[in-house]
Amino acid sequence: MYEKERGKWGISHAEMGFSRGIRDELARIMPERRCCQLAELAGLAYVDGLIVADGYEVVAGQAAAARKVYTLFKQLYQPYLEIKVRRRAQFNKHHIYVVRIPQQPGLVRITKSLEGVQRRYLRGRWGRACCRRAFLRGIYLGRGSATNPNKNYHLEIVTDTFQQAALVQSCMETFGISPGVVQRKRHVTVYLKDAGLIGQLLSLLGAHTALLKLESIRVLKEMRNQANRLVNCETANMDKTLDASLRQVENIRLIAETKGMDSLAPELQEIALFRLQYPYASLKELGTLLDPPLSKSGVNHRLRKIDRIADDLRGED
Ligand SMILES: [Zn+2]
Repeated sequence: MYEKERGKWGISHAEMGFSRGIRDELARIMPERRCCQLAELAGLAYVDGLIVADGYEVVAGQAAAARKVYTLFKQLYQPYLEIKVRRRAQFNKHHIYVVRIPQQPGLVRITKSLEGVQRRYLRGRWGRACCRRAFLRGIYLGRGSATNPNKNYHLEIVTDTFQQAALVQSCMETFGISPGVVQRKRHVTVYLKDAGLIGQLLSLLGAHTALLKLESIRVLKEMRNQANRLVNCETANMDKTLDASLRQVENIRLIAETKGMDSLAPELQEIALFRLQYPYASLKELGTLLDPPLSKSGVNHRLRKIDRIADDLRGED
């Protein structure tokens, strides 16, 4: 359905949707602790902040990032703030958002505390994981994007300097995620091309809906390959189990992409997640994974409910 609707630039809505979905999801997360709020703002400021003649500015290419910058500044320092919207270039619909703190008492304290976080990380003093995670989220909000996993597995963060790229890289490495780095024209890009690593990063940043989307697409791809391999050597019975599981995974993905997983009752969400995680498990095996365990017919009952919700969604189309 989505793949047919191609936009002006040959990008389908689903592709734009995946990348934007991550950003929107990350923009909604507000860290609870002050240390993490500061770290996230420091991340955004590290790649997009600038001391100007009469104040301090953070430039954001996306409304989501601008909102986050604004909220974090307010939360942390209650300064007087301005937001300006600039058109990026002629014939370009995209806007640039400038969150600006005009010269005022306390401005030096603000820039000093942001620089303090950045300097600590540049010296390899990584501190708490919660803050590092928030720092990466800030940087991703400012400079990150991802390709729809239906097409290929690719996530990148575009930075301006080798120093920035190296910091992003080593910060990710503190979590066991090793990205590649490549220079393209005036930018240095940090990228991931492995679905597993992209999934780890999304989970780390807190983009759980996007993670689920990625996982379900990955499972579908794997299962199609597996099904192709099995065609000639397995029994008809095995094919039937696999067919049913494939259908269930497709239904779960449809729900995740339209109504969202949150629309499902908790017990249905639970079984949906296990189905994605264990696409080859029988209904009985799925039942034993639940806590408390559920009978085969109980599992079947829940999965049928999911099938019906997906059927209704198709009917509305
Ligand atoms: Zn923290």
